Amino acid sequence: MKKKLDISSKIIHVGGEPDPTTGAIMPPIFQTSTYVQSSPGKHQGYEYSRCHNPTRTRLEECLASLENAKYSMVFASGMAATTILLHALPQGSDIVVGDDVYGGTYRLFTTIYEKIHNFHFIDTTDLKKTRETIRKIKPQLVWIESPTNPTLKITDIEKVCKIGKNHGALTLVDNTFMSPYFQRPLDLGADIVLHSMTKYINGHSDVVAGALMYKSKKLHDKLFYLHKSMGPTLSPFDSWLVIRGLKTLAVRMEAHERNAMEVAEFLEKNKYVEKTIYPGLKSHPGHLIAKKQMSGFGGMVTFYLQGGIKNSKKFLESVELFALAESLGGVESLIEHPAIMTHASVPAKNRKALGIDDNLIRLSVGIESSKDIISDLKQAFKKTFS
Ligand SMILES: *Cc1c(COP(=O)(O)O)cnc(C)c1O
Repeated sequence: MKKKLDISSKIIHVGGEPDPTTGAIMPPIFQTSTYVQSSPGKHQGYEYSRCHNPTRTRLEECLASLENAKYSMVFASGMAATTILLHALPQGSDIVVGDDVYGGTYRLFTTIYEKIHNFHFIDTTDLKKTRETIRKIKPQLVWIESPTNPTLKITDIEKVCKIGKNHGALTLVDNTFMSPYFQRPLDLGADIVLHSMTKYINGHSDVVAGALMYKSKKLHDKLFYLHKSMGPTLSPFDSWLVIRGLKTLAVRMEAHERNAMEVAEFLEKNKYVEKTIYPGLKSHPGHLIAKKQMSGFGGMVTFYLQGGIKNSKKFLESVELFALAESLGGVESLIEHPAIMTHASVPAKNRKALGIDDNLIRLSVGIESSKDIISDLKQAFKKTFS
């Protein structure tokens, strides 16, 4: 029955059965490394917590259902999920990657795994180019992010998955920015979904964690073997914190979106803003695709401030409610400067090509009162430009 519930109910109920031994409505934290056996090799499915832990199992059950997957595996970070997935591919695989993926993903691919696999970076919003590249290279995997970070480019997930499938490639979507509440890539034809749960899924800026969701048993067996052997384990306590944070995903995402839309409309009209990027704005080049494949536009807004680095720094120093910090997706509003902060590991030449200029500012709009969020931006504009 629970598999048929709406996502906002699944978030709360799947994997959330009361504890059978005590009736505790919230799942206990199984803070244990090992489990007793009644006879050698005879146990209740749990032997050692690097392999299995009941708190983690509950979280994985819920996550799989939210993305309409069969399986989910959680990790000590989003990057750990990425690392394990890269090991599940045969050595020397060709991987076609969106050209403005998360900075840490770019760094991992180009400075560590470039000796093991071949990465081909392209603009996956350009379907013609994507088709040509996939046809020519015949990659094992296509890796996309939509919307991207920080320029919020929208890739047509359904079309790219179809192209991949036609040429024998699996498609992975990093769905961190939308969360399963607003976008479910497996329903659009993707094979694997990746999340940095550090962001919206946990939503409270107090955990670093990652997850993969997928339908294939064969992939699951391979990933389980790698997870067990390499050990990028999410602790029982952090698993529990994510279970707790996740409960409010639906109401948080609705509030993030409502506030982000107001902020985007405010910025778009502001005379000190050169350009505002938000998939919910009609002016966004990917607006129609976003409307087709997402049920909401999310909480991330970026904009180009008038003037150069000096104005940007002044603006970032002037905000009071917004915290100047990396990361995103928490209940509190955050502001950051991608060129200096989150995307410093992307070479300057590539940053320029991607539009990550010195006057680009990224907002993770929180769920405070929108009135307070906008007044804070107003006073920062005033301080910067008076
Ligand atoms: C943060 C982030 C990651 C990396 O996740 P960590 O939990 O920080 O390891 C991957 N992809 C996207 C889109 C992210 O925002």
